[in-house]
Amino acid sequence: MSSLPICIGVDVGTSGTKAIAMDIRGAVLASALREYPLASPKAGWAEQDPADWRRAVLEALTELAAKVDSRAVVAIGLTGQMHGSVFLDAENKVLRPALLWCDQRTAEQCETITEKAGGEAALVAMVANPALTGFTAPKILWLRDNEPELFEKTRKVLLPKDYIRWVLTGEYATDVADASGTLLFDVRNRCWHKGLMSKLDLDPSLMPRAFEGTEITGSLLPEIASQTGLPAGIPVAAGGGDQAAGGVGCGIVRPGIVSSSLGTSGVVFAFSDGVHADPKGRVHTFCHAVPGKWHVMGVMLSAGGALQWYRNTLCHEEMHQAKSSARDAYTYITDQAQTVSCGAEGLLFLPYLTGERTPHRDPFAKAAFVGLSLRHTKAHMARAVMEGVAFGMRDSLDIMREMGIPLEVSRVSGGGGRSELWRQILADTGRIEIAQINVDEGPAFGAAILAGVGAGHFKSVEEACDNIIKETHRIPVIEENAVCYESYLQEFRACYTVLKGGFQRMAEIVG
Ligand code: ADP
Repeated sequence: MSSLPICIGVDVGTSGTKAIAMDIRGAVLASALREYPLASPKAGWAEQDPADWRRAVLEALTELAAKVDSRAVVAIGLTGQMHGSVFLDAENKVLRPALLWCDQRTAEQCETITEKAGGEAALVAMVANPALTGFTAPKILWLRDNEPELFEKTRKVLLPKDYIRWVLTGEYATDVADASGTLLFDVRNRCWHKGLMSKLDLDPSLMPRAFEGTEITGSLLPEIASQTGLPAGIPVAAGGGDQAAGGVGCGIVRPGIVSSSLGTSGVVFAFSDGVHADPKGRVHTFCHAVPGKWHVMGVMLSAGGALQWYRNTLCHEEMHQAKSSARDAYTYITDQAQTVSCGAEGLLFLPYLTGERTPHRDPFAKAAFVGLSLRHTKAHMARAVMEGVAFGMRDSLDIMREMGIPLEVSRVSGGGGRSELWRQILADTGRIEIAQINVDEGPAFGAAILAGVGAGHFKSVEEACDNIIKETHRIPVIEENAVCYESYLQEFRACYTVLKGGFQRMAEIVG
């Protein structure tokens, strides 16, 4: 058992809640995970019961308190899935299941918001982002339009982790990073955008007070302390939305440092000293969990997911081989891809299996192999998939470069980052050095760091990250490969432009 002070990070995720206990040297002493279901009562809807989050968090905290010296716990930091909406009445009763980030029911309300704001450019000027169906503001308008009797009773709208904050501390509060994803937040001035709320006829008192990520928003209630075994009164820091807290957890806290995450989806996340918004709304601009800073983010809907689709659809032999060996199917697939040169001899893959966010904002976009010929084998196809995903990430990097954001090194994370070949392809296509780091604990780790700063155990988020997070390896750009990829990149981009109309027409044919 550690005698050093311990900070807890709680991540209220979509598939489950993960809580970790970290000592102030950054060592993870224990973690606990509790899962819960996601309901889809209608096509395109995604809901969860906040009572499930509450149960999961309290069980996870109880488990952590039993696994570590609970008297050493000095602070809790919160993070979680962004954009979700919990509607509370005057007695703090949850009025209906929460609508989640991936819920798609609000297309009409997005149009209303854009129109009332005076068009997309005006909206981006106000809140730094365009209206997307996943964001919180359209969900509030949906409630008003479709369940007016519940809207009438609503007194507070809380984001998922902030409902948990209320459970733990009895306080209504959020953080500026998570608030940025509501579409009601003045990202530039780090406060609620009362002007936009008035245009939408929403009462500003619906939203909780917004704090910087390291600020203390309340303390653990005695009844929660006795239920979980944690010390009563320990401070609960604001924390951050999962992207911002995940950024802190990878040390993306200084200019020039970016992260490239190759999970099922792909995220390019860049630190920014000032507010840069893309007028075309292709990347998100949010407040960072680092006080007074921002971050810009490009999101690919299918990144690692594209290689997963390729494996599941075309690699049964490799999956079979993997079963009878100690290697996984992805290593067989990437070994094949390694035998082919850059550009897969003229085979391109557009990775838009589930539509695309950055850079196209096109729900109809589809994936495609372009340029297949008799000489191409599965090895070429595997390489093309990996390169297509990397070209998609390059698109995000180039938008950020256009916006004047310094990009010096990209820290890689997510399952796809395990592949040495994919890391090199990311470096060469993106023309950016790729770094590996010593931790991969995700947003809960970032939340624990924010709590440690809030409780005074570190001078700043930057100092904490410098102490705890280290680069273990750097992969330089191979210039010859980078030059080869530049020509393919032009064709990759041209393919989408040519095929775009066809994707839409085919969606109509399929109905
Ligand atoms: P999630 O976003 O669902 O948490 P992960 O971060 O675990 O996903 O990443 C899963 C993806 O990582 C898979 O879809 C696959 O594309 C990729 N992946 C996992 N292992 C490897 C590997 N050894 N080589 C290449 N890609 C891999």
